[in-house]
Amino acid sequence: MKGLMQDWPLLVHRVLDHAARWHGEREIVSRSIEGPVHRQSYRDLDRRSRALASASKKHLKAKKGSVIATMAWNGYRHMEIWYGLMGLGAVVHTLNPRLFTEQLIYIINHAEDQWIFTDLTFLPIFEKLQDKLPTVKGFVVMTDRAHMPVGTKLSNVICYEELLGQGDEGFAWPRLDENTACGLCYTSGTTGNPKGVVYSHRSNVLHAMTITGADAFALHSRDTTLPVVPMFHANAWSLTFSCPMAGAKLVLPGAKLDGASVFELLDTERVTMTAAVPTIWLMLLQHLEQNPTLKLPYLERVLIGGASCPEPMMRAFIETYGVDVIHAWGMTEMSPMGTLSRLKGSMLDLPPAEKWKEKLKQGRPGFGIDMKITDDKNEELPHDGKVFGRLKVRGPAISSAYFKGEGVAAFDADGWFDTGDVSTIDEWGFMQITDRSKDVIKSGGEWISSIDLENAALGCAGVAEAAAIGLPHPKWDERPLLVVVRKAGTEVSKDEVLAHMTGKVAKWWMPDDVAFVDDIPHTATGKISKLQLRERFRNYHLPTA
Ligand code: ADP
Repeated sequence: MKGLMQDWPLLVHRVLDHAARWHGEREIVSRSIEGPVHRQSYRDLDRRSRALASASKKHLKAKKGSVIATMAWNGYRHMEIWYGLMGLGAVVHTLNPRLFTEQLIYIINHAEDQWIFTDLTFLPIFEKLQDKLPTVKGFVVMTDRAHMPVGTKLSNVICYEELLGQGDEGFAWPRLDENTACGLCYTSGTTGNPKGVVYSHRSNVLHAMTITGADAFALHSRDTTLPVVPMFHANAWSLTFSCPMAGAKLVLPGAKLDGASVFELLDTERVTMTAAVPTIWLMLLQHLEQNPTLKLPYLERVLIGGASCPEPMMRAFIETYGVDVIHAWGMTEMSPMGTLSRLKGSMLDLPPAEKWKEKLKQGRPGFGIDMKITDDKNEELPHDGKVFGRLKVRGPAISSAYFKGEGVAAFDADGWFDTGDVSTIDEWGFMQITDRSKDVIKSGGEWISSIDLENAALGCAGVAEAAAIGLPHPKWDERPLLVVVRKAGTEVSKDEVLAHMTGKVAKWWMPDDVAFVDDIPHTATGKISKLQLRERFRNYHLPTA
């Protein structure tokens, strides 16, 4: 017998329809690239997205399946492009401006981008690259006529507001299959070439629905949300879908992501929820430390993910500023949310120290994500919080393959995706990342977690940033070297760092040496580039005991 419910494909434009119809007056506040703060409503977003879709169809010949790129900060025009082009059936390819030139050329050509929508900030990049991008027909500059650059070397340039002005605000969305592709985002490719993750309408809508839930982002219509995490990185963690779905006010930070600028938006817009990688929060907390009169009276919760949340950071938010922290783990391939560290009802009577331990972990999956850890022979490992193995996931908002059939080794016949992370899962179901599989330090046949070493070192006064890498060792195969950036104006020594770490990690995990450097290399998504660091220390000799 067939169910007799309506067939209502999960299309991204439904999110916008809902926001415009039932939360039409809610604001989207953007710090514009041209300068002033811009305000519009969800109703405006709907009108303008339809106009953009209609104009893109007419003038850019955009249609179902066209791949069109954006290189833009978080702002209202970027959202109009997402909803407009996705609604049309086109695929929005978000470009990360921090990628190296060669990677950008590679991914634009690999994706066969037809047009590039760009913020004013990035014109110099494309002036240099345009001759190497044969599939790109031209550039839409995301500004109005008054701010269009004079004398740009870019060929075939269109002014965004002029394009949009030629569109029909009453444009009717085509009815698409919910499995139609709508987004493309390349992983930054710490090894090999970047690989394309292709989102569908269905995966984006399902993911946003689960992410708004009370045990996830707990988004509601009274929230004011500031996604500092960029729209060019893994769907801005879905906030540009889940906020309109919940009717939350959105605050979009544009290009200014330093501590003072983020604080200003949190304060003036009375933000209740915000999300970003630890680097951003480090800058905000430093700004607050330097200005002790500043407080965070409106902020209720901060989502920290993309890299492990250090304990001092979580304690500063919770204990000093009274802001709850949700530690989250995810990947571009997972749309991107995987787990969140939200304590369960059954854990509420745990002693405070235990609660802290769990909260600092990467957390547990919500509905829609299946997760396991396995050994190298694909045997499932126990949830005892001690044994660590390869972390594998599956679910309706998780990649089933990469674009154009690359990276097949990451997917198995039963639909499990190997995340490349190594983790434990404890009896509460809380997962803790111990490493990336390629970064784990293999000493005497056992694994040492580089992340645990870094976390242990980070609590030491005078340590600003720390990275642990394995260096070749004649007896043990590999031994850890800790690379440290000192806090400005401090003179912390190797012995002080090691003394601080003693007792926090197993004795045989202790680094064989500590090297002090001025800077640690980062990837395009702001993570420590272990690859470059290992290269830098290739000829380094660890002291022999
Ligand atoms: P990219 O790999 O392109 O930098 P992703 O966001 O897809 O961008 O990176 C996903 C990886 O980031 C994960 O596989 C994991 O290694 C790391 N990561 C994400 N969140 C956390 C977290 N909370 N703690 C530790 N590592 C994390």
